[in-house]
Amino acid sequence: MKPVIQRALEQLNDPGPIKVMQSVSGGDINEAFYVRTSHHEYFIKANTNVPSHFFTVEALGLERIDQTNTINVPKVYHYNEPDEGETGVLIMEWIEEDRQAHSAEKFGQNLAKMHLHPAEQFGLDQPTFIGRLTQDNSWSESWLDYYRENRLQPQLQLAIESSTLPHKRRDKLERLISRLDRWIPHHPSPSLLHGDLWAGNYMIGQKGIPYLIDPSIVYGDHAFELAFTELFGGFPSTFYAAYQEMMPLPFEYEDMKPLYQLYYLLVHLNMFGESYGPPVDRILTRYTGG
Ligand code: ADP
Repeated sequence: MKPVIQRALEQLNDPGPIKVMQSVSGGDINEAFYVRTSHHEYFIKANTNVPSHFFTVEALGLERIDQTNTINVPKVYHYNEPDEGETGVLIMEWIEEDRQAHSAEKFGQNLAKMHLHPAEQFGLDQPTFIGRLTQDNSWSESWLDYYRENRLQPQLQLAIESSTLPHKRRDKLERLISRLDRWIPHHPSPSLLHGDLWAGNYMIGQKGIPYLIDPSIVYGDHAFELAFTELFGGFPSTFYAAYQEMMPLPFEYEDMKPLYQLYYLLVHLNMFGESYGPPVDRILTRYTGG
């Protein structure tokens, strides 16, 4: 991988040499490295098995978040669009972790500011990725329609194709999707969402400043974002308190939450298999009955 990274750095006008190159763990998809040359430190992701626009989409997401001027993201220095068989590379600012007492509160405030940044519609003007799966976005006037047609339906379809939907699960999921209007709103106010916000996708940098990383952006209901933060253990309570002070969650949030988590559970079911079946089934049973 070193020669590939060396070449990418040259395109960035850093002639090297690479003095330090260490693997960084924690991601789901890519190889990741800390790289130091005589000139600079970098965080670099590389992958030979992703579509050519994979890192373009990540860079665009980071740029859209940056444009809101509400929350930090790492600066993107370089990315390529590799031909088949070549390696995709994304070179970014290295964030040195420095968690401080106020970091979670600051994160809650900054995320609320990002969600409060005005937006007009739901969806996005281009496809994105969640893990390795593609999300075919489109614009919609209705969040409910977007969520049903661009999120739940495609995961249902994928699960049918990969045979992860036993008859009963499929039947319940189809019934639930047809009744979604009981719980999911047509017109919440649209927010720019990170879209894949679990604990591994934010960092606390120098002076305790929060950063969003690895987004899968979409304009949607902010409750969708918060529901996912709660799925795998949750964030610190000071994060939620600070967030809600600036941007309260709707009264019906607790009823919507499992339906928003359902999307991410279906994604996990489709990517990682049956260990995510039981939590999917619990939600289906709760909303469709026995
Ligand atoms: P993947 O796309 O494979 O999921 P991530 O973007 O989540 O990879 O990055 C993997 C890990 O690398 C993160 O969990 C985090 O610990 C670390 N990381 C991500 N971005 C940076 C950065 N800009 N600086 C330093 N470390 C980072």
